[in-house]
Amino acid sequence: MLYTTYRPQTFSEVVGQEQNLLTIREQIKNNKFDSAYLFAGHRGTGKTTIARILARTICCPDHTEDGPCNTCKSCRSIIENTSLDCIELDAASHNSINDIKELINSTKYLPTLLSKKIYIIDEVHNLSASAFDALLKTIEEPPVHCIFILCTTELHKIPATIRSRCSIYQFSALSSKTICGRLEFVLKELDKSYEEDALQLIAKQSDGSMRDALSIAEKLIISCDKLTVNHVKETLCLLEDEIAQSIIWDILSQNGKSALSMLQTVYEEGKNMSQLTDNLLQCLTDGITYLTANDSSVLINTKDYQQEIIKIFENQKMEHLFWYIDQLCTLREKIRNSINPFIDVQLCIVKCCHPKLLNDGMIPVLARITKLEQELESLKTKGYEGKEQLNEEINIRADSPSRKTDTAEEESNSNLPESVTAASPQELDSPETENPFEEKTEKEHLMEEKENDTKDDDILNLFSDYL
Ligand SMILES: [Zn+2]
Repeated sequence: MLYTTYRPQTFSEVVGQEQNLLTIREQIKNNKFDSAYLFAGHRGTGKTTIARILARTICCPDHTEDGPCNTCKSCRSIIENTSLDCIELDAASHNSINDIKELINSTKYLPTLLSKKIYIIDEVHNLSASAFDALLKTIEEPPVHCIFILCTTELHKIPATIRSRCSIYQFSALSSKTICGRLEFVLKELDKSYEEDALQLIAKQSDGSMRDALSIAEKLIISCDKLTVNHVKETLCLLEDEIAQSIIWDILSQNGKSALSMLQTVYEEGKNMSQLTDNLLQCLTDGITYLTANDSSVLINTKDYQQEIIKIFENQKMEHLFWYIDQLCTLREKIRNSINPFIDVQLCIVKCCHPKLLNDGMIPVLARITKLEQELESLKTKGYEGKEQLNEEINIRADSPSRKTDTAEEESNSNLPESVTAASPQELDSPETENPFEEKTEKEHLMEEKENDTKDDDILNLFSDYL
C-alpha cells in the first residue's frame, strides 16, 4: 500500500499541519509533554501518523526536535508492534465499557521496556457513554507514567468533560497544493510520469485526505505507465464534469431541447439522477466561486475545466445563479423519495430553461433582464456587421400584429436603457454614425427621441419576447 509505504516516520516528513507540529516541537524541546492529547479533524490528515511519531519520540532516548531516531530498541519495538507499553485501541471495534476497563486496569502497572505507557485510542468518538465515563476518571488524574493520545474525526461527539481534560489539536483538511506536492514526490520516487492536471483531479477527489489521494494514485498507476487526465477521468468515472457543464450551459442559454437531449443520453447510459443533480450543483457552485473570486484558478480542477467555467459564467449574474441553485436543491430533496427521479430532473430542467413562465419572485425576471442585456451587448459589438440582419428581422416583425397598449409601451420604454432608445434601424444606415449605440448628448437624444417615436416601436417589437 502506497499510504503505508510512504507513511511519514519523522515530523519533518509530515506534510501540512504546521501549527500543530510547531507546538509539538516546542514540547519536545522542553521535554515536557501533555498527559492527554486529543487530535481532531478530517480523515486522512495525519492524526494517527503524528500520534505514532509522538509516541516514539516520547519514549526514544535519542529523540530530536524532528522526532524519534527510529533505530533504537524502544523505537523498533513500537514500529514492529511488539511493545506491551504502547497500546493502540481502535474504538470503532472496541467501544464497550469492558474494553476501556481492561485498558484502565493496565495503567496501574509501570511500563516494562519504554519510559512511558502510551495509549493511542483511534476513532475515540465511538466509545459508549459509560466507556467515556470510565475513561474520564483516569484522564482527570492520569498516573505519571501514562500518556493518552485520543484521535477523532468527530470532535462534537466527545463529551465536554473529556475535551476539557485534553490538549486539543485541530487537524485541518490538506490543501490540494499540499496533496499534489506529496503525490509528485511519491510518483517521482516510483519513477512514474504524470500530467499535472491529473494530480489536481486526484486531489479534488480525495477531499483533503492524503490517505485517499495515495490510495487513488495507487489504483491508477497499476494500470498505466503515465498518469493522464483522461485515465483518471475514465477510472474514476469523472466524465460527469463535462456532462454537467454542457447541461448548465444549455440551461443558461435557455436551450431546453439540447439540455433534455443530453439528459436523455445520460439516463440511457444508466447514470444516477441524484449524482447528476449533485454534479449540476457543483458546476453552478464553481461558477459562483469563480465570479466571487474573479479568478478561475481557485477551482480545484483541470485547466480545461476552469476555462469552460469562465466561458459559461463570465456574463452571468450571481443572484440569477442562486435561483438555479434553489431549483436544484429542491430537486435533490424531491429525488430522495421519488419513484421516478428522471421525470423530476426533466421537469426541473424545463422549468430552469423557461424562467419567464414563472412568477415566484424577482429572480426569473432578473434572468430575463440578464438575457436581454446580453443580447443588447452582443448587438452593440456586432455594430454594422449585424445591421442587414437586424433590418430584415425588424421588417418581418413589423408585419406581426402583436402590439402593446400605449401605457405598456410607455412603461417599457421608460425602463429601457438609453442605448436602446438611442439606437434605431434607420440610424444604422447613416454613414456619419460610427457606432449606432454610442452615447449621445441629452439635447441630441431628446431631438432624436421626438423623431424616432415610431422607430422605437420596432425595437420594442424585436424584444417583445422578453417584455
Ligand atoms: Zn529511538
